[in-house]
Amino acid sequence: MPASEFQLIERYFSRLGAERADVPLGAGDDCALLQVPEGKLLAVSIDTLVEGTHFLPGADAESLGHKALAVNLSDLAAMGAEPAWVTLALTLPRVDEAWIEAFCRGFAALASRYQVQLVGGDTTRGPLSISVQAHGFVEPGQALRRDAAKPGDLIYVTGTLGDAGLALLAASGRYDAGDQRVVLQRRLDRPEPRIEVAQALRDLATGAIDISDGLLSDLGHICDKSGVGATIRQAAIPLSEPVAAYLQTTGDWSIPLAAGDDYELCLIIPAARQARVEAVGQRLEVPLSLIGRIEAGSGISCTDEAGNPIALVQGGYDHFSAP
Ligand code: ADP
Ligand code: MG
Repeated sequence: MPASEFQLIERYFSRLGAERADVPLGAGDDCALLQVPEGKLLAVSIDTLVEGTHFLPGADAESLGHKALAVNLSDLAAMGAEPAWVTLALTLPRVDEAWIEAFCRGFAALASRYQVQLVGGDTTRGPLSISVQAHGFVEPGQALRRDAAKPGDLIYVTGTLGDAGLALLAASGRYDAGDQRVVLQRRLDRPEPRIEVAQALRDLATGAIDISDGLLSDLGHICDKSGVGATIRQAAIPLSEPVAAYLQTTGDWSIPLAAGDDYELCLIIPAARQARVEAVGQRLEVPLSLIGRIEAGSGISCTDEAGNPIALVQGGYDHFSAP
């Protein structure tokens, strides 16, 4: 017999993730009661994953649990905030306890890793949709805002770019990634929020964004909000082996420059701090690459090794753009 809504909530969602001392009252009442540390700002962000839009029908439930939380922790990382609490609004077409259990496994593993507690949510019936709201803390003045870039600042990115985009191409049968297919698919299904990098650089970076819609699109948001432009050295874009191999055969730079879903960070660093940033970078587990510079003016240009401009591909993914 399928469990009732209240049994489901009690069984799966009432104790999930870390048990935090700053949660006097978690899931189960009309509201959660939460204690923001004195002197800190609360950073809040919400993201939704909809079946058919953000993932394919039949997608692995454990991966969805991971990804629904990861994309929200990624927003906290991009703000320089330290994660604390999340709420979860889950719309399910039916009660499939095996699915819910696997979803919670993926969600809880990542939540525990970052000492995040699930403190409430909503459970409804309908087409599969997952909304997670993440809450974190940031010191006033340390938030990594999109409007903080200044001409001369350096542009860094974490990890490698284009892996998730290439995974999508491979999954849709438009590219044969050979024995790299599984590695790429994992990058698409299990993005890693770059919390450690953001925390390590929070005193040195002035701005950041997470790359969810593609580097050009997301760096474009920083440029627009800051009233600046940017140049990127194409040869400095960090690439994984499979993406480098893809570029060798196709020359299609839209994958590392404009494909989304990598959830790496793009960080803005004042040039005078370069040596300190690179010293921190040496100690990080994730590569940190200097890819370009903020310029006066507007727009992003890409240059080859001789410094000549290269024609740019179309920007990133926009849900409401005209076809
Ligand atoms: P209400 O009718 O007051 O909105 P609900 O029946 O929606 O209460 O939820 C009861 C309790 O269970 C609340 O504390 C709510 O935060 C929690 N809850 C419901 N669904 C979830 C979920 N998917 N994850 C975490 N907590 C949940
Ligand atoms: Mg409710």
